[in-house]
Amino acid sequence: MNAGPPGAVPPGLPPGLPAAAARLQFRDPARARALGEALHRAVDRAVDRTGQPVTVMHVCGSHEQAIARYGLRASFPQALEVIMGPGCPVCVTDVPEVDEAVAMARQGLTVATYGDMLRVPGSGPSLGDVRGEGAPVEVVYSVADALALARHQEVVFFASGFETTAVATAAALLDDPPPGFQVLSAHKYIPPVMEIIAEMPGRRVQGFLAAGHAATITGSGVFEAFCARHRLPVVVAGFEPLDILAALVALVEQVARGSAEVDNRFPRCVSRQGNLRAQEILWRVFRPVGGRWRGIAHVPNGNLRLRDAFAHRDARRQHPVDPASLCQGAPSALAARCVCGNIMAGIAAPTDCPLFGGACTPDEPVGACMVSMEGTCRIWQQYGGQVRLGREPPLLPDPTGRTA
Ligand code: SF4
Repeated sequence: MNAGPPGAVPPGLPPGLPAAAARLQFRDPARARALGEALHRAVDRAVDRTGQPVTVMHVCGSHEQAIARYGLRASFPQALEVIMGPGCPVCVTDVPEVDEAVAMARQGLTVATYGDMLRVPGSGPSLGDVRGEGAPVEVVYSVADALALARHQEVVFFASGFETTAVATAAALLDDPPPGFQVLSAHKYIPPVMEIIAEMPGRRVQGFLAAGHAATITGSGVFEAFCARHRLPVVVAGFEPLDILAALVALVEQVARGSAEVDNRFPRCVSRQGNLRAQEILWRVFRPVGGRWRGIAHVPNGNLRLRDAFAHRDARRQHPVDPASLCQGAPSALAARCVCGNIMAGIAAPTDCPLFGGACTPDEPVGACMVSMEGTCRIWQQYGGQVRLGREPPLLPDPTGRTA
């Protein structure tokens, strides 16, 4: 599409719109149509080369939200399946991590955490449940809120999120926080879990969309060794509809060519080396350790824990919870039917779950994927109308020999 001379306001936009804002046309329908057509052509070429449908994975709840909210799947070629992997930090927070926070709250420690975490099930009651019983659990919207609380009392900040939010937690710890501020880290680091997905037996995934915000911190270069090791392409994508469509075109074109490279399609925020200052802050405070991601697997180097220099700020070390007291409850009959793990591993869709939209809803979630705003089940429930999700059974030859 011809966008006109630099600085010009494209047709159809309000007159007087600042030129800089007018250029931010990441939802332009004409461009979206053109990218949709390019995507169909790329998928056709990929199917010609590989002889099979194309399956790619994104690892970010914000990508799933944008895809569902803007109805992008309705425009995807039938031979393209875009699945969500373990891209919701709340969903992958493991049961013992929730149990630790619950145990601390029951000891009378003030636990401050993000609202989504209150309803994430542990092996027993959730943080919301014990809050209802009178335990001191506070909802915060940022680490800054938790710091403000800690000026008046001892506070355990139950911190979840990927490297993007972990940097904010790290920066808070380096900035002389109040004496009563401690962190119970459930932070996770995305690149190692991509290794797990890539090494899964029978893996269908032929390429990854990487999250633009996380790559803003780590840089796109963090994926280069992964691409070489697994012969899989990675394309860094932003979060507007055109960002996602353009990145999908680039990703499927790599599948069609048989190449496996890192391609940064979010250059307005992401560089190859990333934010070096943020990385320095992140790794000064946290060290990567192995640990379970809920429903998926043990992920080597997938959990971020505080370094020894911050032991006095580490709630896990200051208020150790007896591991024998964790994870003792058997899951309820409903929870036992939850397939969140398979969904986050990309081998099931929310609609494969018998509880989806019935026994499990955002008001009464059974599994973590229905709790978080970034959980696939919650997103699909919220936006509904999953038009032609690329999961139709393949057309089989008519046994009578007739053609349609
Ligand atoms: Fe789990 Fe609910 Fe999703 Fe089913 S619909 S997988 S029970 S979160």
